[in-house]
Amino acid sequence: MTAHGLRGGQGFTGRLMPFRVRRWALWELPGRVVLGYVLAIDVLAVVATGFAFSSSPVGVGNLLPFMVLMTCSLVYTEMSRPIERIRERYAATPHIDLNSVWMFAAVVLLHPGLAAVVISTSYFYRWTRVQHNPLHRRMFSTAAAVVAAILADWFLVSTGGHAFAEVWPHDLGTFLRLVGAGAIFLVSNTILITLAVFGTTPEVRLREAMGTPADYALESATIALGIVLAWALVDWPVALLLILGITLVLHRSVLIRQLRDQARADAKTGLLNASSWAEAAAVELSRPRRPGGTTSVLMLDLDHFKLVNDRHGHLVGDSVLRAVADTLRAELRAGDLVGRFGGEEFVVLLPDTSRFDALAIAERIRCRVAATTVSVAAGDPHKVGVTVSIGVAAHPRDAGTLDGLIKVTDKALYQAKTAGRNRTVGYDRHEPSIREDVA
Ligand code: GH3
Ligand code: MG
Ligand code: MG
Repeated sequence: MTAHGLRGGQGFTGRLMPFRVRRWALWELPGRVVLGYVLAIDVLAVVATGFAFSSSPVGVGNLLPFMVLMTCSLVYTEMSRPIERIRERYAATPHIDLNSVWMFAAVVLLHPGLAAVVISTSYFYRWTRVQHNPLHRRMFSTAAAVVAAILADWFLVSTGGHAFAEVWPHDLGTFLRLVGAGAIFLVSNTILITLAVFGTTPEVRLREAMGTPADYALESATIALGIVLAWALVDWPVALLLILGITLVLHRSVLIRQLRDQARADAKTGLLNASSWAEAAAVELSRPRRPGGTTSVLMLDLDHFKLVNDRHGHLVGDSVLRAVADTLRAELRAGDLVGRFGGEEFVVLLPDTSRFDALAIAERIRCRVAATTVSVAAGDPHKVGVTVSIGVAAHPRDAGTLDGLIKVTDKALYQAKTAGRNRTVGYDRHEPSIREDVA
């Protein structure tokens, strides 16, 4: 994992001139604590590497695997450039990095000092050839990986000897130690990076700073491939070619997944866009349900949103839209479908949720949105808030099809608007104000 997940935050923006030290974006990191933390990890990585070299000699047997892993990492970076070029041309998704294959194989096979050299070289070579983000970010990602590698190495050594090169027994104990070391590498790297993301961009919630389960699955698979590579290098080195091929194919399929996710997302808020929401909602509704099972839909429209734009401009309006989207994401479950339906309208499908519960959820969302504010400008204490009107309807009680459900939810929303806004209304077919429309 790298710090490329860092989004937006003040400290991590802007290109960096490597040699004009006083102009480094690093010094703009918000708060001394974060700056101190980032520098401490950088220094810790260097000191720990120096200590590793001075405390134990590098065995001659290490030199061949060291050269092979360095070459693999550089060849992989070169061979993945055409894939990364597709990303540059068509998508703004973050660059990905499967270098943990070579890095973790280095942790398993090499002296920890040499493993740190493989890790640093792989990060910086990639920095020059593919992903040219601010240098201090790259330095921090590298330092975090080196510290994680040294912890994993410490675990391997303290549970008895190091490494494959000394011919480990091919037994369950060895397997468990390697898996344990992989877990330590992943978890410690994630904690170090997450603390930095959270510290530099406090507006990013911890949950978002932590990345998605798919990110961890990919990182775990990469580390697992690193174990297989280390094994291959000892027992059957030519199998390395297969692993290089697998890594490149994996890299390409991750890009395809990212492109697909991007096509499904609304660019402004990151929620589902209208068509992918409707597609996913239709699939959800067609799923067989237990008798009496209910699926509910909420439709939300911001109140007097035009006034926000007129008073503060469209950019502030856009920040309000993003803040509302964040509130929706935070308040709903992973299985709920949240979409941006149009300009300032949102729609939510709640599987296996009764009308009664959906009304309570809508009320909770309404109150949270009313309590959400965004700054008019950086450093300006003036805040803008907004309220939302919500319509609620349930399947199959209020309508039997998705189109019908959207229609009646929209009617309930309209009723919430005409009744004074900032309220939740459940669709009621007996309500006189809407009865004639439905008939
Ligand atoms: P009501 O309470 O009746 O919903 O009032 P309203 O002003 O929210 O309703 P209306 O539908 O008349 O206006 C919606 C406004 O939303 C108009 C448009 O300027 C604004 N809007 C739509 N999409 C965007 C967007 O992507 N960004 C911004 N900033 N504004 C948007
Ligand atoms: Mg509207
Ligand atoms: Mg509106």
